[in-house]
Amino acid sequence: MRFSAICLIICSLMAAQKAAALEICGDLKQGELLLVKDKKSWQITFFNNLKERKYYPNEEGVFLAALHRDAPQKFKIGIYGAGKSVVYKDLQIEPTKWDIQRINGVQQHKVTPNKEHQTEIDRERADLNQVLALKTEADYWQSGFMQPVEGRISGNFGNQRIFNGIPKSPHSGTDIAAAAGTPVRASADGIVVLSGKDYFYTGNMVIIDHGRGLQTIYAHLQEAKVTEGQGVKKGEVIGLVGSTGRANGAHLHWGASLNGVRFNPRSLLNINEKKCFKLDSKAEGK
Ligand SMILES: [Zn+2]
Repeated sequence: MRFSAICLIICSLMAAQKAAALEICGDLKQGELLLVKDKKSWQITFFNNLKERKYYPNEEGVFLAALHRDAPQKFKIGIYGAGKSVVYKDLQIEPTKWDIQRINGVQQHKVTPNKEHQTEIDRERADLNQVLALKTEADYWQSGFMQPVEGRISGNFGNQRIFNGIPKSPHSGTDIAAAAGTPVRASADGIVVLSGKDYFYTGNMVIIDHGRGLQTIYAHLQEAKVTEGQGVKKGEVIGLVGSTGRANGAHLHWGASLNGVRFNPRSLLNINEKKCFKLDSKAEGK
């Protein structure tokens, strides 16, 4: 009798603790998108490289979160519960060995721009920063994602790139080689928040907002086929493959950004089927 009474108390305590466990879905690797599930928390903070990022749940208690390309191996997160309670946990992030990619035959002024190009470059950066800062309370991302064009992957996310012999910043997306004029499709449902523009680096570009701070980017288009403010469905044609901006041949640059963190867009492809594990939110904090 006494044992079963004790078990009743311990077992219900264990069950309560289990229910409080936070679930993380996705690969703990640099540049990956994660889904965090926890109905009891109202904010998760990722202490990403350089800047901390705050993520908030939707009504189902799902947070989208991204690991920076250069996320440290020992990665801290803060889990905010009721009131002011917060638990810090360390995640072990698997480092990625990024490839070096040499790209030659690019117009030299796109590699070593002069002062006159700076105004153009500033306009591009300002527009991009503005759009990638959007945090709409929508969950279009739940439609799931598809690769926007079929073709050979000609450049991976995260590559360290050398243009015409000059080292430049790491690759912020995935390049897919396809013939000029091939239709590019929206990788998921969303709202078009930028279209066209003929930018210095990205050329004609379309950006789709999928809600919760998540956007996908389609660059170097020959032509954009959508207008800003337009709603699009997954698979709908949004533009044509081209080589506008800094490109040495026809391809689509497909990018993804969450809360201003660029991550590998290919980690969107299994967004609703990622492997999950539980993280006990009651475990030791630091
Ligand atoms: Zn690219």
